[in-house]
Amino acid sequence: MNEGLKWLQCPVCKETIAWKIPGDELKKVKRFPAPIIIKHKDHYLICYVDSHYQLADTEAATAFVEGNSKK
Ligand SMILES: [Zn+2]
Repeated sequence: MNEGLKWLQCPVCKETIAWKIPGDELKKVKRFPAPIIIKHKDHYLICYVDSHYQLADTEAATAFVEGNSKK
């Protein structure tokens, strides 16, 4: 079943990526567009989806650094 499968062109390396909308996670989201971070190889993208789970915008997160919160 390919429901929720989206295609986009990576803004960093220009490859086409197939990715799945995390529908279960988005059900918890109250405000749209919602950012979704996708890891592609050694870089990250931020995809914004609207309340119909349509891709609204894509941007490269070339300087994305993963931060750890202290417990
Ligand atoms: Zn890429």
